[in-house]
Amino acid sequence: MLVCLSQGASAAPLVVAEELAPQSLNSHMRILADESGNLGIQDILNVEGHAWMKLAEGDETNFGFTSAVYWVALSLRNPASEPVELVIRQDYPLIDLLDLWQPTDDGGWQRIATGDLRPFYSRPLDLRDFVFPVTLAPYSVQTLYLRYQTSGSMNIGLSVSSKTEFLPGLAYEQVLLGVYYGGFLVLVIYNLFLFLAVRDKAYAYYMGYAVCYGLYFGVHNGVSFQYLWPGNPWLANQSLVLLLGLTLIFGTQFVRTICSGERFAPRTDHVARWLMYVLIPLTAISPFVSYGPMVLSLAVLTLVLTILFMVMGVISVLRGSIPARYFLVGWSALLVCVVIYMLKTFGLVPHNGFTHNAFQVGALIEMVLLSLALGARVGEIHRHGYTDQLTGLFNRRYFDEQLPREFDLAARNGTPLSLLILDLDHFKEVNDRLGHARGDAALCAVGQLVKRQIRKPVLACRYGGEEFAILLPRAGHKEALIVAERLVRLVATQELDDISLTVSIGLATSERENYASSVQLFEEADIALYGAKQAGRNRVACAPYQDTPGETKSEAIGTVQ
Ligand code: GH3
Ligand code: MG
Ligand code: MG
Repeated sequence: MLVCLSQGASAAPLVVAEELAPQSLNSHMRILADESGNLGIQDILNVEGHAWMKLAEGDETNFGFTSAVYWVALSLRNPASEPVELVIRQDYPLIDLLDLWQPTDDGGWQRIATGDLRPFYSRPLDLRDFVFPVTLAPYSVQTLYLRYQTSGSMNIGLSVSSKTEFLPGLAYEQVLLGVYYGGFLVLVIYNLFLFLAVRDKAYAYYMGYAVCYGLYFGVHNGVSFQYLWPGNPWLANQSLVLLLGLTLIFGTQFVRTICSGERFAPRTDHVARWLMYVLIPLTAISPFVSYGPMVLSLAVLTLVLTILFMVMGVISVLRGSIPARYFLVGWSALLVCVVIYMLKTFGLVPHNGFTHNAFQVGALIEMVLLSLALGARVGEIHRHGYTDQLTGLFNRRYFDEQLPREFDLAARNGTPLSLLILDLDHFKEVNDRLGHARGDAALCAVGQLVKRQIRKPVLACRYGGEEFAILLPRAGHKEALIVAERLVRLVATQELDDISLTVSIGLATSERENYASSVQLFEEADIALYGAKQAGRNRVACAPYQDTPGETKSEAIGTVQ
């Protein structure tokens, strides 16, 4: 059965020349939909002219999902005395079966049978799109027929150019593709190294996401089939849905991790987890079920997830997540590009290189920004591991790492290093009298006070319960003593969270190799602290310190307010 799309006459042949820049064949072709799919070239030649549909320049040539076979007839005319070498290009590479029928000199027909259900080498030229070289004899008119059959989108995008005009354009295109996929590759390799160093699962999800996303676009562009699995038409056809499913799975896991969904947005995260339970089996069966319904279900899931990610990102940002900020910027960039792409499709913004590829460009921009989100996440984890939750000072772990490092550095540079150990006086009583919560608040207030009093490179840590350690690189005994005395005075005079507190401080200074190791420096400061407690608390005591060589001050220096 034939379907007449419109009452079409024959389209005027396109006049070709040696310098023919790439141009759309829309207004020079006739189209015929064969619902039965049974017509051969001889049947087509006998089809009446009016059964063919004629297109205008701007007409849509994407006929969507259809079981019909589409035939295209093209007429070309060479008015010159020399033969013209042309190329005819079908620029959507996911057509299952594509046949070109060309008249031969002896009145017969030559068929080139290609399409992505056939191995890649069925193409006359090894290019990602279908490109057919055609030579037009002098003073001739030739009509070519193309047969399209596909289970995906019936997207007919034909253009013609002379070979001399086609090649430079092709070279330019290849460079852009190289830059594009090179960008993906760099991001994947860079983050692979970071993954090996950091071992954070967010990196693994990111790599899965980037690889699948990149390959997905590669399938769309035809480069995956060309370079990765040219001998495997099955994969060429099934990879699209498979990669889309995997992209969504990795993407969802990545977003849940980077936004700390479980912590900041538990309900949204719960929904995302359920969608994963749908996505995983769906993706697993995707290569084995029919293409149309699969693409439709994945498209619906993509839409739902897009909204869900946005919601999760916004909630996490509002609850203070820094990586989620980068995520939100990246995600918004992608969405803006997708909107631009859609506006172009509806003709609301001009068609140019950017708008035409906005979707793809947006994906790469998104990937770069998501890589920054990973960096922010690592920074946050890093800080978390070294921060005391109650006071916001560094924790003991950090101090234990820094003390030997600073000690060695000071010894090597010949600079002094002072250490103060602070212990709140009778803090147990405060706890007993006012309760643990008020005790915590007081500790927090002391932490804030200490923080305000120090500048880099001084390093203040909460060493244990109500003990603090302050490391003063390049500070000699006298300077450290001034700092310590000021702290004692401030704690005693300020009402910290309405609680009167005092603090005792032990001070030791490493200078001119007076201590053999950082452990010894710490022990001496601790002994000095004990001395301060013994001497009545609310004071500073110093470890035995050689002010000038030969003279040892062994007595604690006390300052009582
Ligand atoms: P001193 O150091 O002056 O000899 O007396 P102290 O009472 O401060 O000494 P001790 O080391 O016996 O007691 C320390 C108390 O600090 C025990 C505990 O109740 C309290 N403490 C330790 N860590 C915390 C904490 O994180 N929060 C609160 N609220 N109290 C803590
Ligand atoms: Mg104590
Ligand atoms: Mg104490």
